[in-house]
Amino acid sequence: MPTIDELKAQTQAAIDARSEWLIDIAKTILNNPEPGFMEVNTARYVSEKFHELDIAHETGIALTGMKGYIRGGQPGPTVAVIGELDSLRVPGHPHANPDTGAAHACGHNCQIGMMLGAAVGLKMLEGHEALAGNVALMALPAEEFIDVQDRWEMHQEGKLGFMAGKQEFIRLGAFDDVDMAMMMHTASQSSEDAKFAFGGTSNGHVVKYVRFIGKSAHAGGAPYEGVNALQAAVVALNALNHQRETLRNEDTVRLHGIMTSGGASVNAVPADVRYEGRVRGRSIEIIADANEKMDRCLRAGALAMGAQVNIVTMPGYLPMVNNVPMMDLMKDNAARIVGEHNLMTHVPTRNRGGSTDMGDLSHIMPVVHPYTTAATGSGHGTDYLIEDYVQAVVNPAKAMAMTVIDLLTGQGDKAKEILDTSPPQMSKQQYLDLQNGRLVEELYDGGR
Ligand SMILES: [Zn+2]
Ligand SMILES: [Zn+2]
Repeated sequence: MPTIDELKAQTQAAIDARSEWLIDIAKTILNNPEPGFMEVNTARYVSEKFHELDIAHETGIALTGMKGYIRGGQPGPTVAVIGELDSLRVPGHPHANPDTGAAHACGHNCQIGMMLGAAVGLKMLEGHEALAGNVALMALPAEEFIDVQDRWEMHQEGKLGFMAGKQEFIRLGAFDDVDMAMMMHTASQSSEDAKFAFGGTSNGHVVKYVRFIGKSAHAGGAPYEGVNALQAAVVALNALNHQRETLRNEDTVRLHGIMTSGGASVNAVPADVRYEGRVRGRSIEIIADANEKMDRCLRAGALAMGAQVNIVTMPGYLPMVNNVPMMDLMKDNAARIVGEHNLMTHVPTRNRGGSTDMGDLSHIMPVVHPYTTAATGSGHGTDYLIEDYVQAVVNPAKAMAMTVIDLLTGQGDKAKEILDTSPPQMSKQQYLDLQNGRLVEELYDGGR
C-alpha cells in the first residue's frame, strides 16, 4: 500500500500534468457566463469534461446542477468537492455577455476548474483499496441569489422549491449520501493578504421581492385620480435609510436592494413598481429583527400614499460555519503547496459581510470554505479579474484533492473521527422546516 505522502505526490503530479487543460476550462467558462439556473451551456460543457475524465455523473439536478463520483475500493464516508456554475450580472465587466450582462465577477469559473482538477488528482484512486469511501464531484447552480422575480416565478410554476442551488440540492436529497463537503472561493488581493485564507464566517440573509401597487391615471391631466406606486417606494426606501441608526455594527446588518421596475410610461402615474431587496445579518435572529424593520418601512410607504404593497420574503442563506478539523487538514496541504507564510486564518467570528449558500450546507454537515487569492479588483465589480490562474485553479485543486486523501485513506479514520466529533447544527428536516418557515407572502393595503 502506498504511503499518504506518495499518494499526495502522485495526485499533485497528475494535476500538474493537466494544468493547462484545467486553466483552459476556467477561461472558457469565463467567456461564456450564465446566471443561476440558466447555466445550460456551462452545464453541458462541464458534462463533456466529466466524460473526458470518464466520470459517471448525473445531470439536470435542480435544473442545471450535476454530480459525479469517484468510488474507492473500500466502503466509507462520502466527501463532496463542490464548484459553482453561475455568474452574476455585471454589465460593463470586460468578460460580460453583451446581451445579458452576465459576467463571472465572482470567479466561479475557476471553481469548476478546481473541482475538475480535484477529480483529475483523485481519479487514480478509483477502486483503489487505499480509498475507503467516495468522492462526490458536484457542480452546483445558482449560488448568487439574483434575478429574484424570475426565481419567484419559477417557484410558483413548481420548477424550483428553494430558489438557490445548494438549498435546492439539499431539498431534493442530492446531499443525502454526502457526509462532508469542501469548496474554495477565489478572492481579490484587495480583500485578502495571503495566498490562502481560512476561517471566518459570512452573513446570512433573507431575500425580498416587493411590488408596490397603485392606480394609473394621466400624469398631466389627472394625477390626483391615481395612486403613485413609485412615490410609495420612495417613502419606503427613505424610511429604510432612517433605520440605519438602529443597527449595531457588530451585527453586520446590510439592508440593500435594486429597483427593477419604476413604472411603465412617463405620462401615466406609476401603478406597478418593483423592488428586489436583501436583509443580511450575522445570525438568524438578527436577520429576522432587521427584516421586520424592512417590512415596516415597506408598509409605511404604502400607507403614506394609499397604495398596496405585496412583500414576498424568501428563505435566504445561513451564516457560514467552517469545520475546524477539516480546515486544519486543508491548511497543512495548502502549506505544502505555497508555504506556511502564505496562509492566513481568520477568527471564526470574522464576518466577510457577504453571504453564501455553503453556509446552509455547513449547518447540516462538516464543511470547509476557504479563499484563494488570485484576483485583482473588487468582488462583484467590473474590475474583478483573475490574474493568477495557477493560484485560482491548480493550487486549490491540489489542496482539496490532498485533503480528500487525508480524510479517506487509512480506512477513512480521519473522516469518521470528524463526523463523530462534529455533530451538525441541525438535521436536514430541521433545516427544511426553518427555511420553509422563512417563506412568507404578505399583501398590505395602505389605502383602506
Ligand atoms: Zn459572489
Ligand atoms: Zn461567489
